[in-house]
Amino acid sequence: MIALHFENGQLVEKETDTPQVRRGEALVKIQYAGICSTDLEILKGYMDFSGIPGHEFVGTVETPRSLAGRRVTGEINISCGRCELCRRGLGKHCRERTVLGIAGRDGVFAEYITLPMSNLHVVPDGVSDEEAAFTELLAAACEIPERVYISQSCRVAVLGDGRLAAMAAQVLRLKTKGLTVLGVEPEKMRVIAGLGIDTLHAAAIPTMKGTFDVVVECTGSRMGLPDAIDMIRPHGTIVLKSTFHAPLKWNPSRIAVDEITIVGSRCGPFETALGLLQKKKVVTAPFLTSVYPFKKWQTAFRRARQKNSFKVLLDMQA
Ligand SMILES: [Zn+2]
Ligand SMILES: [Zn+2]
Repeated sequence: MIALHFENGQLVEKETDTPQVRRGEALVKIQYAGICSTDLEILKGYMDFSGIPGHEFVGTVETPRSLAGRRVTGEINISCGRCELCRRGLGKHCRERTVLGIAGRDGVFAEYITLPMSNLHVVPDGVSDEEAAFTELLAAACEIPERVYISQSCRVAVLGDGRLAAMAAQVLRLKTKGLTVLGVEPEKMRVIAGLGIDTLHAAAIPTMKGTFDVVVECTGSRMGLPDAIDMIRPHGTIVLKSTFHAPLKWNPSRIAVDEITIVGSRCGPFETALGLLQKKKVVTAPFLTSVYPFKKWQTAFRRARQKNSFKVLLDMQA
């Protein structure tokens, strides 16, 4: 099969063997693979990954026969199932885990992948392949109200104007009337505002000190957490979604003095995400920037890096 390999700091197209299917695993033919910020970070050396990157996908099961032909998407953490964390239902934190296209396991910028069958979720009828390609991202947004109780009167700020912020805003507006998205890219903010969501330019942040009950940090940038700390009210909760990974200089005293809670949050529930897509409670079409045939992967990665792009998909069968 053809796949993209990341090795020695370079992403290259290579012919490789179709992966070996182990017990309990399925072989999945990838239809669409999504380019995510994590992938772009990996190409800069994040996680010291080498191999086939990519973790957002929709595809069709080839084997086993019991599932063959089903459209699926899949959870990215492959845990051991035996350790203390796994036994406590915290498999996504298993210390023995591999993570699809991120740590110790080849990912989805390939014609085929293998994944444990327990990681797969069948895509319901009425959800298109293009929509299903957003499942992993949307599931990460669905994790926010799982971690923090959000009432209808809660004042919630989403910091960021990217793909994750757009999904988080759509999930959170189902929970509260008091939602504001703060971002910087005018084109992207217009698309978010087009859904009837209140938006403000991030330049307004200094005027909003201590205003919000919950701040969801989705900027992926150095200023995200310090801005969130500025905006949260005493006793409020910050949900940190960005996996920004560099040392930060900031003053933590407000956390103690104003008794602020910071909740880290990563992957989320796929079934909730697929349910929202099926019921059309979340839309993805305005956030699908482009679909490129696999052969055009270099252009696709360039497009994904542009400031005004949301989600870029690779069609692995075109
Ligand atoms: Zn991702
Ligand atoms: Zn484990």
